[in-house]
Amino acid sequence: MSNADPGGRSPKAPTTFADLWRELESIGRDQLTGGYRRYSWTPADTACRTWFTRQAAKRDLAVETDHNGNLWAWWGPRGPGAVVTGSHLDSVPDGGGFDGALGVAAALAAVDLLNEKAFYPERPVVLAVFTEEEGARFGVSCLGSRLLAGAVQPDAARALTDDQGVTLAEAMRAAGHDPARIGPDERRLEGISALVELHVEQGRALAPLDAAVGVAEGIWPHGRWRLDFTGRADHAGTAQLADRRDPMLAYASTVLAARQAATAHRALATFGKVIAEPNGTNAVPSAVRAWLDARAPDEAVLETTVTTIRSAAEKSAREQGVTLSVRQESYTPLVRFDEKLRDRIRGVLAAAGMTSPVLPTGAGHDAGILAARVPAAMLFVRNPTGISHSPAEHADLADCEAGVRALAAVLEDLAGPA
Ligand SMILES: [Zn+2]
Repeated sequence: MSNADPGGRSPKAPTTFADLWRELESIGRDQLTGGYRRYSWTPADTACRTWFTRQAAKRDLAVETDHNGNLWAWWGPRGPGAVVTGSHLDSVPDGGGFDGALGVAAALAAVDLLNEKAFYPERPVVLAVFTEEEGARFGVSCLGSRLLAGAVQPDAARALTDDQGVTLAEAMRAAGHDPARIGPDERRLEGISALVELHVEQGRALAPLDAAVGVAEGIWPHGRWRLDFTGRADHAGTAQLADRRDPMLAYASTVLAARQAATAHRALATFGKVIAEPNGTNAVPSAVRAWLDARAPDEAVLETTVTTIRSAAEKSAREQGVTLSVRQESYTPLVRFDEKLRDRIRGVLAAAGMTSPVLPTGAGHDAGILAARVPAAMLFVRNPTGISHSPAEHADLADCEAGVRALAAVLEDLAGPA
């Protein structure tokens, strides 16, 4: 652009949220299911990163990739006190289009809105894209922000494997990123004054309140446990029932026990991923690997719930003559978002004529991980059905645009004149 104004900004043709969304929508989408398969360090992930980098460049933002593979696009002066916004672009298997992507697209659209108003930040505004938030490929959710905050050991992270046995280190290298330097980044964290992540609502609290945008109160403690049931493979047609050591039976009764425990303790417990070996129709499986996702309003309840499920799994394993090993893969304690920041955001939104109910959530987020290190907050955009982690996940365009306006107002306040 040759016609830059004296302030160094280039007048841009206004880009609407809808334009951004149209571009992003097709990347990593499965034709058959309509769901997204944007797994970290795969070609779909690279396409998302390229899209973001191109959009940031269009807005004269300086993009860098940190040692952990997170993207940071800088707007305004470089220096301390950065106001960070953004989310993630990876997805769960056959996930919805809004989870993560909405926060990234909204951040870009918010910059456009502020540019149109001729607002120029007094402190840096940084648009962040965190890596492997869903943990869909390597099993640990919020891996990019956990590494950044020092909540995961780099050696342990490098050795994480996907379902094909590819390590994180190998996958990063294959995508052109050096895994040798992953790990905590204190200087980057010290330079952040606030983090505001906008996210599609996962649940249905805003619709009955007739509000397009809400503000997060906190995140339930949650974790993932891997259960390995090991029995003995056998012939489905000849092995007598009494002689079998069938890990599928032990697994099946554990699933039912998890549901019972969750109901009894008012918690949530889900087995959403299971791998049977050798996975043959006419074979008693030799092993069943399953992943438990458990969440609860407080840590004591979560612990009781998981202990109950574990005891049930041990009991049924014994009854079926199979062995069981249980390993915790990740754990996130209760997160309370910064109250001062939340009040300030609600004040800004009220001044802009928006009501913003305060909501708790059972879903983990990068902002939840980083809340332990920097003042953090979240904005939620109404999800009319509440469905998430599914191709049916949805938010109306008008609500997404309301989210963009809310985020822009918040950034203007946080990065504007003190
Ligand atoms: Zn998300």
